[in-house]
Amino acid sequence: MKVAVFSTKSYDRQFLALANESAGHTLEFFPNRLEPRTSRLAEGFDAVCAFVNDDLSEEVINKIAGHGIRLIALRCAGFNNVDLEAAEKRGLTILRVPAYSPYAVAEHTLALILALNRRVHRAYNRVREGNFSLENLLGFDLRGRTIGVIGTGTIGAAVVHILRGFDCRLLAYDVVENEECKKMGVEYVEMSQLFAESHIITIHCPLTPDTHHLIDDQALDQMQDGVMLINTSRGAIIDTQAVIRGLKTRRLGYLGLDVYEEEGDLFFKDLSETVIQDDTFARLLTFPNVLITGHQAFFTRDALTSIAETTINNISDFEKDQVKEGNLVRSQKHVRG
Ligand code: NAD
Repeated sequence: MKVAVFSTKSYDRQFLALANESAGHTLEFFPNRLEPRTSRLAEGFDAVCAFVNDDLSEEVINKIAGHGIRLIALRCAGFNNVDLEAAEKRGLTILRVPAYSPYAVAEHTLALILALNRRVHRAYNRVREGNFSLENLLGFDLRGRTIGVIGTGTIGAAVVHILRGFDCRLLAYDVVENEECKKMGVEYVEMSQLFAESHIITIHCPLTPDTHHLIDDQALDQMQDGVMLINTSRGAIIDTQAVIRGLKTRRLGYLGLDVYEEEGDLFFKDLSETVIQDDTFARLLTFPNVLITGHQAFFTRDALTSIAETTINNISDFEKDQVKEGNLVRSQKHVRG
């Protein structure tokens, strides 16, 4: 099949080309983000391959469908950036990579927790400047602390598995309880109890209308002073203005983000020579107890290999009319129907 690959970085080209060696699809790599003004690049192709910040709104879907696109091959797990009903209306199939390396995201979650707690990001700079003072670097033992996990699917369960080794008390909230997590000692509680009792809260549910701004002023009001909040899931699960207020009042003691609700204009690009126009993001960067990474939790060699192989297999399966049910993305309307 002829596939237009959008938002291509050097590593996408490297891993997708390798996975495609035996499949033999024609891949054309575009560095451009898929959006209304770049959608014409899809002309003459059978499929688009898109990533987390590509725009697959109704407008773009109508345009690419008009150009003859039949398949959207997402090289990610989340699909909150796709208008599923519009895609279904235009007869487009959407395939994704439901699980690649949950360990990659889970391990990065731990990296944020440990770095924030022990202030590694600050110590790194101090030592390089010959400042060996320990003032304000005081951390706490994770052992015995209560950790609240919101969303115990593939990644949440991998986080639980790691945290067990730290001897923490583990609380969780999910709309579906995970038996594997229960066996690992997780106690499922109401969200309000998780907010009230957790020293660290880590988010691993998908972004849906139900979870949009799940962490808002009201949620923060229920948390302990000095709580640590980690989000490696999707930015808009957190109301950024609310967490800025929480940081100013010290309700939030630490904030670790790998995702940000307006990340589409920032992440995955080198903007080091430009002036950041997003004042909310700029404000976040001023807090000493905020650590932000640019959506890199998935970014391991193992995960990229697995993402590329599944994406290429999805394209081959579509061509043979043998798509894997578990990789298909459908709208809730369709599921209910
Ligand atoms: P998953 O589908 O295996 O698990 C998601 C869990 O969230 C499920 O158990 C589900 O029941 C639960 N859930 C759904 N709605 C909920 C709600 N309203 N409240 C609480 N729980 C709810 O998904 P996963 O593979 O574990 O991935 C989780 C999320 O991580 C993805 O949706 C994606 O947004 C994000 N992600 C981020 C990166 C990154 O690089 N930062 C990489 C991969 C995935």
